[in-house]
Amino acid sequence: MPELPEVETVKAGLAPAMEGAVIARAAVNRPDLRWPFPERMAERLAGQKVLQLRRRSKYILADLASGESLLIHLGMSGRMTVSGDPLGRFVHDHPAVQKHDHVVLDMSNGARITFNDARRFGSMDLVETARAEEHKLLAGLGPEPLGNGFSGETLVTALKGRKSPIKAGLLDQSVVAGLGNIYICEALFRAGISPARRCDRIATARLEALAPVIREVLEEAIAAGGSSLRDYRQADGELGYFQHNFDVYGREGAPCRTCGTTIRRLVQSGRSSFYCPQCQR
Ligand SMILES: [Zn+2]
Repeated sequence: MPELPEVETVKAGLAPAMEGAVIARAAVNRPDLRWPFPERMAERLAGQKVLQLRRRSKYILADLASGESLLIHLGMSGRMTVSGDPLGRFVHDHPAVQKHDHVVLDMSNGARITFNDARRFGSMDLVETARAEEHKLLAGLGPEPLGNGFSGETLVTALKGRKSPIKAGLLDQSVVAGLGNIYICEALFRAGISPARRCDRIATARLEALAPVIREVLEEAIAAGGSSLRDYRQADGELGYFQHNFDVYGREGAPCRTCGTTIRRLVQSGRSSFYCPQCQR
């Protein structure tokens, strides 16, 4: 499932093909994904200039000249591809339409943006740009972890008195937006905090120190995604997938890179937490 750095990488890959270009033609090939598409979506997209792309949590917003924004969520299995990219970074020829290519945008600059989603947990909607933050998927989201609204202080305040494990606290999107399983595991390892430790039993100074660690982990992953866009000519034009070198995520049974202790896995709220029982307390 794509997390914040992957979504940021998709946005960065789409931007040169979409920003400043006009959507010449939009094909919407089914009535819905996770939810129904908005009424007349293809007509409302066609002819619109894309002013800018933005990211909020794990959502991409394409602000259009009409005053509406296309809200994109990749869900579990959503994939965005660029073909005919005018910058020539991706495959130039448009590939044959694949099964599950649900939305196809042909840009005035020759680029084609394809949204493919086999499991259809993704979504697309059109919202009034000025009121986008009120959309049901965006309302109630906490601060962006990379934005000025997030700090050690805000994290301490948001988690104050909570008896839930820190893992659950960080998964709560009203505490901080866009964090998911993978980067929470990595941040907690780097901060030396056990995923099972109760929020109200973490010393304030340790909790404060967790905020900059979260930023650091996300920024490193975004940098890795960015270099994947620059250095690797993606044969199929698919955006957002790049090589990671995780410290704990997915490393159950392997030795901790810091102390050599075997990395363990713990299931919390139905998701796997990976941690080092020696380094994380
Ligand atoms: Zn360790």
